Amino acid sequence: MSDEVDIADEVAETILQAQIEKARRQQDTVQATGFCLFCDEPIEEPGRRWCSSECRDDWELEHKDDTV
Ligand SMILES: [Zn+2]
Repeated sequence: MSDEVDIADEVAETILQAQIEKARRQQDTVQATGFCLFCDEPIEEPGRRWCSSECRDDWELEHKDDTV
């Protein structure tokens, strides 16, 4: 019986990892534009996509369902 529980745990873990990977890949495909992707604030630092971690978090919340 304990084996079955272990397998279920493993499957859940695999699904979770896949979701994290997917979210990470999705974020990597978004290019920096020189402006915050969420509030359009100009960003001087090259390669940065959001002006603050708050904007990044809000942006991620808005886009997390895009690939469905
Ligand atoms: Zn911003």
